[in-house]
Amino acid sequence: MGSNEQQFEQARQLIPGGVNSPVRAFGSVGGTPRFFVSANGPYITDVEGREYVDLVASWGPALLGHAHPDVVAAVQDAAARGLSFGASTPGETELAELIHSRVSDSRQPFGGAQSAVHPVEKVRLVSTGTEATMTAIRLARGFTGRDLLVKFAGHYHGHSDSLLAEAGSGVATLALPGSAGITAATAAQTLVLPYNDVDAVRAAFAEHGDHIAAIIVEAASANMGVVPPAPGFNRELSRITREHGALLILDEVLTGFRSGPAGWWGLEASGQVPDGTGWVPDLMTFGKVVGGGMPLAALGGRADVMDYLAPVGPVYQAGTLSGNPLAVAAGIATLRAADAAVYERLSTVADQVASATSAALAAEGVAHSVQRAGTLFSFAFSANAPHNYADVKAQEAFRYPPFFHAMLDAGVNLPPSVFEAWFVTSAHDDAAVTRILDALPAAARAAAAATGPE
Ligand SMILES: *Cc1c(COP(=O)(O)O)cnc(C)c1O
Repeated sequence: MGSNEQQFEQARQLIPGGVNSPVRAFGSVGGTPRFFVSANGPYITDVEGREYVDLVASWGPALLGHAHPDVVAAVQDAAARGLSFGASTPGETELAELIHSRVSDSRQPFGGAQSAVHPVEKVRLVSTGTEATMTAIRLARGFTGRDLLVKFAGHYHGHSDSLLAEAGSGVATLALPGSAGITAATAAQTLVLPYNDVDAVRAAFAEHGDHIAAIIVEAASANMGVVPPAPGFNRELSRITREHGALLILDEVLTGFRSGPAGWWGLEASGQVPDGTGWVPDLMTFGKVVGGGMPLAALGGRADVMDYLAPVGPVYQAGTLSGNPLAVAAGIATLRAADAAVYERLSTVADQVASATSAALAAEGVAHSVQRAGTLFSFAFSANAPHNYADVKAQEAFRYPPFFHAMLDAGVNLPPSVFEAWFVTSAHDDAAVTRILDALPAAARAAAAATGPE
């Protein structure tokens, strides 16, 4: 099969940059991206036969670890019955019901919401997180009859046109202001505000309140590294949108069913986050975990808003492969298997890896901040915790590439960008965690030895 180097060389002949999604190219860390051939539990193996402990987890979906037997069996069973019908299947309703009950039913064993209002009364399945947020925005515009959208700098909601202004994830990694190819007219419909700044939101609504269709916000931001919302921030967004007749779209594509059993909102609604109770978003978007590693995402929300979607309402949205039976089977199997013990394990592993990494960096005198949101975490190379995109960009990001490569050389696969969260799985057992911890001292030394751009 050749080496990673040969694979990358060949890929670059035919695929722009050799990758089908930009962050994979190692642009901000340098070196040769690994080409993987298989993954199991917490481990992933490249074309050269090297095994790594994986802390990317497909950027979140592999909540249970790779190739979980229940999920693989469900997909194999579904495949044997036909790959796609372009018509309705019973599994779609079952998955919609799982999403609905997890997020909104306070009688859930996980104790999600305390609210009498169900934030996810209806659900539509789509294929990617990008489609889910794009549809949610179109729906908000159709429902309110307004054009403007508010988003926050450093937040990533997928790559649809309205949402690439000052976005996180790959846009942040490549240090782009946005993307070429987006019309000035589209860009002008998106107001980009600093995150965690309620005054900026109030000011924007004071000026444009009658024209704002929606605020879209990551439930807890994790695409500029992890930056949790300030206590009460999401609730305040809910209050302001309500006051002005706009909608609040809570993007849980990354946090949904990962930061907790009912997503980040579930943590707030059940009082596990300070000042979190007493509010409900109008629309929510899900992806990543909800598809269990297959291309599946969803949007859900208030019934009156969701019923604006075709064929009931005037807002069009469709997909040849929407609700694909294999993807639905993977989603159902994943959510069914993700019980309280799974979240307990995720939490334990996140605690262990986060505190050991912090200790290793501290031992080498590297200024850093541990950024946490539920089971999600990352590190910023700055003494003070960043609260927004400007803070995040001001860190000593040059310390990450040597840290990343030292970990990779020691057999630990981290996200190839300082602007991404680290992802643990419930399959990370003590042996896998030990391998991570053993790799940390040398990586911390490499970070300490790094010299700045000047
Ligand atoms: C990953 C992500 C998306 C986009 O999902 P895709 O499936 O990559 O299109 C949207 N919002 C958030 C918060 C994400 O993390």
